[in-house]
Amino acid sequence: MVEMPIGIFASAGEGLGASLEAVKRLGVSTIQLGAPRDGTGRHRLPEIKEQLDASGLHIDVVFCGFTDSSYETLQAVERTVGLAPKATRQHRLDETKQIAEFARELGCDAIGMHLGVIPTDTTDSNYQDLVDTVRSVCDYCAGIGQRFHLETGQETAEELLEFIRRVERENLCVNFDPANMILYDKGDPLEALDVLAPYVRSVHCKDAKRERQPGQKWYEDCPLGEGDVDIPAFVTKLYNIGYRGPLTIEREYSPNQEADLRKAIDLLNQVRAKLHLKD
Ligand code: MG
Repeated sequence: MVEMPIGIFASAGEGLGASLEAVKRLGVSTIQLGAPRDGTGRHRLPEIKEQLDASGLHIDVVFCGFTDSSYETLQAVERTVGLAPKATRQHRLDETKQIAEFARELGCDAIGMHLGVIPTDTTDSNYQDLVDTVRSVCDYCAGIGQRFHLETGQETAEELLEFIRRVERENLCVNFDPANMILYDKGDPLEALDVLAPYVRSVHCKDAKRERQPGQKWYEDCPLGEGDVDIPAFVTKLYNIGYRGPLTIEREYSPNQEADLRKAIDLLNQVRAKLHLKD
């Protein structure tokens, strides 16, 4: 089995991920797939499945995305992202279960999500409600042989660890994104990886600079290897904690996405060679 194969975050026609055509041109073997949004894309499942089956790509995780999510400001994230906002929670919980079924149809055994901003006060009733909601997702996923992966970065590693412990479900895992720790200013990514190590079942190889350029949005990433994440150290630490799953490159806000992805693949291949990983 290939150890730490290189993958790409892709989308089937919408969202920020690379197109499946670009993925094919770049020659990787595995992807994470952004799920089509409610009402716009899920009816395209047969077509998407046919495309993916023909490509032979392995799907590591299907990522949930919801209509009306906004990353424009941190307040907007709090109001609109994931299952955390109360106003949309029930509808999105139902949708998450539909996405799990969509993933199952594609033969994928994990769904992932930005849960949104977890309340910092663990005694808040909304905190317990969110714990219950995540249990509901986990139990549904367990029933169809899936895991549920929470993306890192919108809280510190310690806060996420505490939340995971309180949910108490074996199929609740972490999708570790080191760049988010920098963008949301939630601690050092490599130290965070130590804290969450036992739960990491998928990753985003994404980079970001702390310093913003004039006019640059707070959430914009940068080409892999050019930011404040020490990517060789990140991959080496993943190896040292026993992680052997895909290294999924996520490049979001780029005018040259395909060229950036190509360079990222080269960088990860150099690190993989140094670690003498099995191809
Ligand atoms: Mg990410």
